[in-house]
Formats: sequence, structure tokens, C-alpha cells
Amino acid sequence: MTVNERTNGIKSSIDHPAASYIVIDLEWNQPIPWIKTLVDPKELPGEIIEIGAVKISSAHGDYQVSKPFHVMIRPVCYTVMNRNVSKVTNKISSDLRFGLSFSDAYESFKEWCGKDYVLCGWGNSDLSILKANLRYHKHAVELNTLFLDIQPLFARIAEGKSQQRSVEYAVDFLRIPKKEDFHSAHRDAEYTGLILRELLQMLDKIRNEPVDSSRTAALDPMHSELMTLRLAPYLQNPDLHAETNSKTPLYASWDACYEDFPKDAALCPACGQPIAPQLPWFRLKKSGFSLWFCEEHHMVLGRMRMKKTPEGKVFAAVSVRLTDPGSARLVMDRYEEYITYGIHGFPMAPAPVETAAENVMNPDGEEPQPIDPHPGKTSVE
Ligand SMILES: [Zn+2]
Repeated sequence: MTVNERTNGIKSSIDHPAASYIVIDLEWNQPIPWIKTLVDPKELPGEIIEIGAVKISSAHGDYQVSKPFHVMIRPVCYTVMNRNVSKVTNKISSDLRFGLSFSDAYESFKEWCGKDYVLCGWGNSDLSILKANLRYHKHAVELNTLFLDIQPLFARIAEGKSQQRSVEYAVDFLRIPKKEDFHSAHRDAEYTGLILRELLQMLDKIRNEPVDSSRTAALDPMHSELMTLRLAPYLQNPDLHAETNSKTPLYASWDACYEDFPKDAALCPACGQPIAPQLPWFRLKKSGFSLWFCEEHHMVLGRMRMKKTPEGKVFAAVSVRLTDPGSARLVMDRYEEYITYGIHGFPMAPAPVETAAENVMNPDGEEPQPIDPHPGKTSVE
């Protein structure tokens, strides 16, 4: 099926990955540290209590946003409402006694999705929570769809930069009328869907404008970037976790180790094909980073970590793995730090980089910090 057939006659030059976009938003409850649960919170950092979604498809020359899909789920592990989640969702423990089982809710969601779609969300935390819940409930964790993270796409198309923003910020920025409060799954899914529609319309509009020869790329680099922007680099395959690991030989110093490491080529960890450099290797403190692009598997992250042997020799553990656009954007932030401050980085030690799961649970067993279940948190390991 060609792109134009997929868009049902919309004059679109966008590389639409599927016939429709399904934007999901999940709400989940979190464990309360002093209440014992049967499950390890590391395995299940959040239990889904609500699924909201909208479908965007093209019809009559425009992108149509469907009525929201919405289902409440009765949790089985975290049945007492975590206070910090409650602040955001306005739900209390008694609200958790109602709703479908996760399995029934997920089945009806899959049925509603239909076929030939790409799953979308704001940040990729919904994706990791969904997979954790599928695993816990012994469902297949394969989603059999690509995932489009709208957050970095918004940053690039609407703002021309790489900042991490909230859904509410994007709604205000694009002047999308606000009807109701945020943080109900179907409302947030609907707002995120409206953001995506706006971005697709912006891309179509700029590409359908008559060519103005006085407007050169040098004068307006943002314009020319949008003319050629593709969605493919914003897509990830959530079912693939390809990674290759290697170690460098031993050296006397990290400088020598880093200098000696061949940095001009890499192979895709999923297909083994040569990949194109997006951001060449750079060194920041005890790490090296690089970004690559595989036509088939999209963003690839190269990472070197300095290690020491008991004898005082150093080597680097090198990993090359498929990554997502949000993590890639964080590497861009590290690159900015490197460009500004050099290899030793920002003079004051920044907060340690955490994983999404660690962000949810406070490691010292305190009640988790107030968090927005919708931060779109993404981190480089
Ligand atoms: Zn590949």
C-alpha cells in the first residue's frame, strides 16, 4: 500500500507509517512502600487503572480524531490509592474497586484498535508500563506495532528544539481549545491526539505552500528542515531489544582507550547492516556517546563506559543498541553539555541519570516523590 492510498486521497507528503494513528494514555497506580505486595515493584512499577485512546485517520481531506476509547481497570496488586497518584488523577481507593480486569480491558482495547495502525504516546513511559502489565498478567508482551513518540516530534516541528514538554504545555502552545481538566486517560489521549493532528497538518501545510524562491534554506533553516522531515526517525519497534556488547583492549589511561577506539563505523544490532552516523562519538566524563540511524530499525545508540581492572588498567564496555527518539534527544542534551563545557562536562555534578523504573520508586524505601504520571520521562539508562 502506498502512502497516498493510505491517506485516502489526502495530498500528503508525510511518510505515514500506517493507515491510522492510535494515541494512548494510561493512568496507573503505584505501590505504597509500607504495604506488602505479592509483586516486586521493580517488575511492576505501576499497575494500570485506566486506558484512554483516540484514533486518528484521514478522511475527507483532513485528519479525523475519533471519539475516545475509555476503560477503567480494577487493580489486583496496588489496590490502595497512592497519595501522589491521587493528587494527579483525583481518584481515591474506593474508585479502584470498579472496572474490568486488565485482560478484559486490554482485549477490548485491541479489538477497538483494529488493524494497520501505529501506536502513539507522549513520551515512552506508557509503553514501559504497558509492557510491565502485560508481562505480569502473562500476556504476550509483543505489541506488533511501531510506536511513535509525539513528544520529541512536537519539540522538533512546533518549537524547533529538543526540550521535554508536558501535554498541557503543547496544548497551550498550539492553542488547542481546552474543554476539561487533564489527567483523565481519555482526555489526555484526546489532547495528545489533537496535538498530533496539528503537527501533521502543519507539515502538510508547509509542504503544499507554493514554492517561494526568495525563501532560501540559509534564510530559514527551520522551513527547509520541515520540508524534508520524516516520521521514520521518531518511530521505534517496541518488540525489538537488539543490542551488541563488546569490550576494548586494556589501556593505561581512559584518554588512550577512547582515542584508540574506531569511531567511524557501526553495524545495526538488529540487522547487522552498516548504519549512518547521526551524531559522531563524543566523550563526556567517563562515557562516550554516539547516535546512528538504520533505515529499517531507526535510532541506534552507541555508548562507551569506562571500567577499571583491579590492576588499574582501563577499558571501555561498548554497547550499541536500538533506542527511542526520547533517549536520543537526551544524548543530544549531553552533546550540548560537551560542546559547552568540554569532556569534563558541567562543572557541578548533575543528578545521576536514572532509569524510568527507578524514577518511579524512591530507592531508600520512602514514599515515592510526588510525580506526574504523565511526565513522559525518558532517560539514557
Ligand atoms: Zn537495522
